[in-house]
Amino acid sequence: MYAPQGVKTSPKFPIPDTMKAWVLGGPGELSLKDKAVPVPKRAEVLVRIDAVAICATDLEIIYHGPPASIQGGPPFNKNFTPGHEYMGTVVALGPGVDEYRIGQRITVEIHAGCGQCKRCREGMYTACHNYGLNYGDVDKGHRANGFTTDGGFCEYQVNNINTLVAIPDEMSDEEATLVVTAGTAMYGLTELGGLVAGESVVVTGPGPIGLLGVAVAKALGAQPVILTGTRDNRLKIGLELGADFVVNVKKEDPVEAVRRLNGGKGVDYVIECSGAPNGVNEAARMVNRGGKICLAAFPHEAVPVDIAHIVRNNINLYGIRGEGKSATHRAEAFMSQKRFDATKIHTHTFPLEDLPTAIHYAKDRVEDAIKVVVKARGVSAAHKVAAE
Ligand SMILES: [Zn+2]
Ligand SMILES: [Zn+2]
Repeated sequence: MYAPQGVKTSPKFPIPDTMKAWVLGGPGELSLKDKAVPVPKRAEVLVRIDAVAICATDLEIIYHGPPASIQGGPPFNKNFTPGHEYMGTVVALGPGVDEYRIGQRITVEIHAGCGQCKRCREGMYTACHNYGLNYGDVDKGHRANGFTTDGGFCEYQVNNINTLVAIPDEMSDEEATLVVTAGTAMYGLTELGGLVAGESVVVTGPGPIGLLGVAVAKALGAQPVILTGTRDNRLKIGLELGADFVVNVKKEDPVEAVRRLNGGKGVDYVIECSGAPNGVNEAARMVNRGGKICLAAFPHEAVPVDIAHIVRNNINLYGIRGEGKSATHRAEAFMSQKRFDATKIHTHTFPLEDLPTAIHYAKDRVEDAIKVVVKARGVSAAHKVAAE
């Protein structure tokens, strides 16, 4: 039975010594294996994972490797478990932890910075200078679960208490997995200055971050909020999440449409979530002079950018990584206050053992899948659950 020294457990939540965990072999190869249940150290807890959402970044990692970095290199054939957008129940406390209690439901953010570098001290722990230095003699205590340390496609994982977000009982497991996605959108708006009440915002690209970017911008009081994209079904969800206008870029020039919808002027902020090769250039023509652009997605290849236009118009570009500055806590506050319904982007749930099927749905957008969730318990193996 699991009883590591110095770790608090409870008979109400018995913990086995080993668990089922998906392990990455070569690119695209996942197999379900037995692994030892990890042990929390100081300032860490053990989380029983109740649900985990699949992110486009998981697909990047599983098929291509980056941005995961395991022991300073690609994540393949290193007994690495991917997955990072999970929620669950605290079931064991590392030495000295009293900030959370056993049995508490939580969701997680990804990055536990080292806590000692310049960026961590500024709250920018997703840009930790000791990123990935969590092994051997250079263990700086950094964790980015599913990127530099084992992640959530398994039954239990260790988390630093700084990565936990308490959630209310009324919030479903599936909704709780979306807090970190909303947190990423919130972080983008924070980095732009955060003062978006009454300001005009365009979100380009209705993926999960774009759609929740619309929701968060609206909840923060932005007006108008304009969403651009190519898929009408996703643009419709954008309207339900608070977009004032949507533009299908296949039917209309998005730069002209944005100006028309904003009284002939450029907007104050663009959150670029499409990753389209011309995304930066289009965003730079959507903002007004002095406007700000948050880059939350990127194309695979390097692309030409019209720098002269950016300089002449005093346009500001912000690259954001993840969900720093406790943005997940602010996103969770909006969600628990029901300021928007993030579950509109959740489309499918599968049992943990059907992860390959779930990945197929997410990757190939089967049945218009957006956010696909896997659960270790409570979903019958024979049936996928399509969300309403
Ligand atoms: Zn993600
Ligand atoms: Zn750091």
